[in-house]
This record gives sequence, structure tokens and C-alpha cells, in this order.
Amino acid sequence: MQKIVVIGEILVEIMADFPGEGFSEPMALTGPFPSGAPAIFADQAARLGQPVAIVSGVGVDDFGRLNTARLARDGVDISAVWVDPDRPTGTAFVRYRPDGGRVFVFNIRHSACGRIAVSDAVRAVLDGATHIHVMGSSLSSAEFIALNLDTAEAIRARGGTVSFDPNLRPEILDAPGMRAAMGRILALTDLFLPSGEELTLLTRSRDATGAIKELLAGGIRAIVHKRGAAGASYHDATGSLRAAPFAVREVDPTGAGDCFGATFTALWLRGTPPQEALDLAAAAGALAVTRRGPMEGVSDLPTLRAMLAQPRKEL
Ligand code: ADP
Repeated sequence: MQKIVVIGEILVEIMADFPGEGFSEPMALTGPFPSGAPAIFADQAARLGQPVAIVSGVGVDDFGRLNTARLARDGVDISAVWVDPDRPTGTAFVRYRPDGGRVFVFNIRHSACGRIAVSDAVRAVLDGATHIHVMGSSLSSAEFIALNLDTAEAIRARGGTVSFDPNLRPEILDAPGMRAAMGRILALTDLFLPSGEELTLLTRSRDATGAIKELLAGGIRAIVHKRGAAGASYHDATGSLRAAPFAVREVDPTGAGDCFGATFTALWLRGTPPQEALDLAAAAGALAVTRRGPMEGVSDLPTLRAMLAQPRKEL
């Protein structure tokens, strides 16, 4: 089986219990929940039985321990997770605005996962991978950009594959070198997994049809466009497919794109037909939003298959 590697942040998320216009003092919060987009992706892939490793760091603290214990329990290879004696595990606080939008307060850059220690264990994991999943949120510094790019190039050179989810957080989009790095990653990408407007972010065309044509002409083999409660679509050189969204009650949207992406990527690597992979990924995304906590909505394959019988919304 293909072995996926993902490089990026591990953190805990602590969330406000009720929507409001701001964090105020004191207020009811729930957490810590294990989180970090790459960690959610890895955990969901592992729950599907996919070999997957995460390259990241945690501090010598309870937040680090709860994350590594959870990832290991679900089957993620954590041999390349370093324990930083000087920095704490990353944290994110999130509150929901009354309109459903989310506001995050992150501490990632100065946390254990904010700098890289390329040890022998990290090197072994990178050298053993046949697929890298790159996330925009992991391109937060020159160091992380270089490690993702070098790994993607090495994996491609030895016949492996690359998937890319821009996974943009507005606060890092204008970080130095970010756009250029995303362009370079895109040039190495086999499977592209943008959400919403990210589809046209790196293309000359501003409309979806033009952007899809341009991306496929540029060498991308498959595009999966995530559209939240509107479902998802798949595009390759032979045509397009759609997955209508499942009718679920959204409780917490954080992590849906990562659960969706991990499911599609794992199944794509196994050669699952695209419509089946898309439907199961849409099931994973839909189930993810029904649970509070970013990593609490991950599913195994029997659960996803059972979900396929559930009602969908009209497109
Ligand atoms: P991201 O978190 O990357 O922005 P999305 O929010 O688009 O990703 O979610 C990924 C996928 O999960 C969607 O394409 C859809 O299939 C599914 N999904 C997300 N939110 C919902 C929802 N409220 N109802 C049903 N399906 C959803």
C-alpha cells in the first residue's frame, strides 16, 4: 500500500461554547481537542487503514501527549513527531460568530511545530513515503516551504505522487514567499483539492470552468473541488462528476475539508473509481461537521459506506 506523509502543525483547539461577537472574560470554553489540519488529515487516513505518517512537533506537555496518544491510537505513524524541550504544543482558540463564521486565535509559529528538526527519524519517514499531501497552512515559513517542496520533488522523482490542498488561512496568504511556494507545489501536484474560491486562486482564469481547464492542461491529473454544504465535484481529462451533499445538521465545520481530503486521497491512491471515492469523501466531510471538535468526526470505512444510504440534498 502507498504510504502518505504530511508535514505540518499539530495543536489543540479550545472552542467557545456559544456564538458571540468576541472572546470576553470569562466565558465557557470546551477542549482541548486534538487538532491541526495535517493531523486531522493523517488521523482520517489512518482510520481508513491507510499507512500515513505526520512530520510535526509537540511540546513536553499534556497537549502534546493527548495529541500523540490519539494519533498513535488511530494508527498514524508518529515516529517523526519530535518533542521540543523549549516550546509548548501549538494551540488554537476558536469562537463562532452569530452568522456561523469562525474566528481563530492561533499560537503555532512559536510552538513546537513552528520549527523543524530534521532528525534521522524524520528523514526515514520522508524517505519511506510514496505520496505527500501538502497543505497551504503548512507553508508558513521558508523552512516548511523548503521541506515540503524538497519532499514533493523527491517523491515524484522516485515515481510517487503529490496531492495539494491550499487550505488557506487569510493570515498566512501574504506571508513572504507563500504565493510563489504554492505555485511551485501546484506544478508538482497530481491531485488538487481546493475549497471554494481557492480553485481560481493560482490560475489566470477567474471562472471555474477556465481554471479547471488550465489546471488540467498544466499537468494536474485530477481536481476535487470542495464546496461545503453544496457538496463537491471531480474533474479530470475525461470529464466531471458531482457528489450531492448529504443532509446533515452542521454542528462544527472545522475539519470537514481535511476528513474529505484524506478520504478521497486514500481511495484515489488505492485506485477506487472516482465517483465512489467522491461519494465516500462527501460522506466523510458531512459526518465531520456533525461532531463538535475538529478531529472528533473522523470515520472508518464501514461507517462511510453506511452513510451512502442516507438522504442527500437536491443540487
Ligand atoms: P474545507 O473545510 O476545506 O473548506 P468544505 O467545507 O468544503 O472543506 O467541506 C468538505 C466537504 O465536506 C464538502 O465538499 C462536502 O462534501 C462536505 N460538507 C462540508 N460541510 C457540509 C455540510 N454542512 N453538509 C453536507 N456536507 C458537507
